[in-house]
Amino acid sequence: MTDQIVERIDVVGVVGCGTMGAGIAEIVSRNGLPVRFVEMTDEAVEKGLARIAGSLDRQVARERLTSEERDEIVSRISGSTQYGDLDVCDLIVEAVPEILDLKQQAFRQIDQHARPDAIIATNTSSLPVMDIAVHTRRPNRVLGFHFFNPAPVMKLIELVRTVVTDEAVVDTARRFAESIGKVPVVVGDRRGFIANQLLFPYLNQAVWMVEGGYATKEDVDAAMRFGAGLPMGPIALTDLVGVDTFVGIMDAIHSQFQDTRFAPRPILGQLAGADFNGRKSGRGFYTYDEPGSSRIVPDEDTRDPADPSLIEGWTTVGVIGTGTMAAGIVQVCAQAGFDVLVRGRTRDKAEAVAAGTSKSLQRQVDKGRLTQQQMVETLQRIHPVIDLADLAAADLVIEAVAEDLEVKHGLFEELAQILKPDAVLTTTTSSLPVISCAMATDRPEKVLGLHFFNPAAIMKLVEIVPTVRTDDLVVQQARAFVERIDRVGVLCGDRAGFIVNTLLFPYLNDAVKMLESHYATAEEIDTAMKLGCGYPMGPFELMDVVGLDITLAIMERLLEEYRQNSYEAAPLLRRMVDAGFLGRKVGRGFYVYD
Ligand code: NAD
Repeated sequence: MTDQIVERIDVVGVVGCGTMGAGIAEIVSRNGLPVRFVEMTDEAVEKGLARIAGSLDRQVARERLTSEERDEIVSRISGSTQYGDLDVCDLIVEAVPEILDLKQQAFRQIDQHARPDAIIATNTSSLPVMDIAVHTRRPNRVLGFHFFNPAPVMKLIELVRTVVTDEAVVDTARRFAESIGKVPVVVGDRRGFIANQLLFPYLNQAVWMVEGGYATKEDVDAAMRFGAGLPMGPIALTDLVGVDTFVGIMDAIHSQFQDTRFAPRPILGQLAGADFNGRKSGRGFYTYDEPGSSRIVPDEDTRDPADPSLIEGWTTVGVIGTGTMAAGIVQVCAQAGFDVLVRGRTRDKAEAVAAGTSKSLQRQVDKGRLTQQQMVETLQRIHPVIDLADLAAADLVIEAVAEDLEVKHGLFEELAQILKPDAVLTTTTSSLPVISCAMATDRPEKVLGLHFFNPAAIMKLVEIVPTVRTDDLVVQQARAFVERIDRVGVLCGDRAGFIVNTLLFPYLNDAVKMLESHYATAEEIDTAMKLGCGYPMGPFELMDVVGLDITLAIMERLLEEYRQNSYEAAPLLRRMVDAGFLGRKVGRGFYVYD
C-alpha cells in the first residue's frame, strides 16, 4: 500500500445499485463525473440502470430536466458484475443491504481491486464503520459517507470518521461532498450517527401505533405532516426507506442502546418476510400501483369521507376559555360560518378574544386574503358571554381552559346540566384523559377530545379523540365538523400525547440526550435533521419555540402514562428549565436571542 491518498475525485464507483446506490450514481453523474457501479447479477445491473432511468424520466416529465440532459447523465453511468471495473475509481461508495456480513464481504472484494490510493466509503446508516473498515488493508482510507434518501434531493451527508480514518481522507471527502452540492457534517462512528439515531426510534414508534391499532397509517402520517409540519409522514417514510433496510437499521441501533423502544416492531419483520418492503416492492404498509411508484392505491384502511349531513342543523359553537388556543378556535369556527359563543370568566376577557380576532382578521384583509365584508360578517358571528348558561344554544361546545383536571371536571359537570340533550361536548386537552372529563357528565357518550394545535388559526390538524364511551355517531359528527372548519381530522385513542406529542417529544428529548453526550452540537443536530430529513426546524430550534418547560412537562406526562425508561427527561433539559432558560420567550434556550 502506498502512502498517497487521492486528493481529487474524478471517477466514482458505486457498489450495489438499489434505492441508494441508484440515487448516488445519479447525483454524481448529474455533477459531471463518470460513475461505474457493480451489482450481483446481470439482471440486477439491468434493474439498477432502469431505476436510474426511471428517476430521470420522472424528472423529464416534470420538466426539471431536458431529455438531452437525461441522455448525458445516463451516458456517464455504466454498470457491471465485475469488481475489477472499479480499478479506475478515486472514490468507491458501497451501498449494499444493511447487513454487516454482506458489507464486510463487499469491502474485501473492493479492496482487492481498488487503486491503493483510492478512498472507500460505506453508505451504512447504522453499522459501525470500523467493523467494515478492518476488512480492508487500508482502514485509514475508509470512512462513512452517509447519503439520505432520496440521494439526489437531500442535502445532508454525514461523513463518519473512525478512530483511524486519515484527516486527508476526511478532507478529500468533504470537498467532494461540497462539489456535488451537498452539506457534509463530520461525525464520530456511533450507530445511527446523528439523523438516524434520532429519526428511526421515532419511525419505529409510529409503526408501533399502527401495529397496535392505535391509529391508522393514514392518520399517523397526516398527524405528523399537519401537526408537526414534517414533509412526509413516518409510515410513508418507512415505505420509502424500505422495510428490510429499516429492520437492519433498528437492529443495529438496538444492539447499541438495548432499549425496547429501539427494537424493530414485529410487524416490520413480518412485512419484510413477505417481501412487502415498501415502495421499491410496490407494497409495504401502503400498496402502490407498481414497484417504485409513489402512487398509493386505496386499501381496507381507507376511510369513507366525513358525512356533512350529520351536522346539517348545527349553527352554534360554544368556546370556553379566553387563552391563545380558545382565541384561535373562535376565529376558525366563526370563519367557517358558525355563530360562536365565547365564554370568559369576565366580560373583558371574552371581549378581548373578539378584539384579538378582529386584529388577526384585519391582517388577512391587509394581505388580500379576506375582504372587508367577510371580516365584518365573521366578527358579527362572535358573541362574548360570561354566563355558562348562555351556552345552552350551542350544538357543540369546545372547552379550552387551563390544563387542570379539577377545573375541567367542574366545568363538564355544570355544562351537562345546561346543554341541549344532543349537544356534543369536547375538550382540547393535550395530555389529560378525555374519559375523565366525560365521566364528570351524565352523558359520556356525547363527549370526546378535539385537540387543536397552536396557533389554531394556522395549524391544520385536529386530533379527534373518542373515549371508550363515545357514540360512533358523535365521532362521525366530529369528523364532519372538523372538515367544515377546514381542518384535517385524524382519529386516535384516549392516551396522553395522542399521536403528535407522543411521537414528537421523545424525539426532542433524545436530541437533548445526544447533545448532552457531546456527540454533536445543537447546530450540527439541527442541520442534520433539516437537511437530512427535510424537517422545517431542527429539534433545538423547535424546543426553543415550544418552550423547554413545556417540553419537560410533556415528557413527564408521557413517562407517567407509558412508564418507559427512555421517556425519562434528559437531565440537561431539566437543568436548563431550572436555570430559567425556557426558550425564545425568555430570550435564551438552547440558543441565545436578542
Ligand atoms: P436496497 O435493498 O434498495 O439495495 C441494495 C442493492 O445492493 C441491491 O440492488 C442488491 O442487489 C445489491 N447488492 C447486494 N449485495 C451486493 C454485493 N455483494 N455487491 C454488489 N451489489 C450487491 O438497499 P438500500 O436501501 O439502497 O440500502 C443500501 C445501503 O444504504 C444500506 O446500508 C442502507 O442502510 C443505506 N441507506 C439507506 C437509506 C434508505 O432510505 N433506503 C438511506 C441512507 C442509507
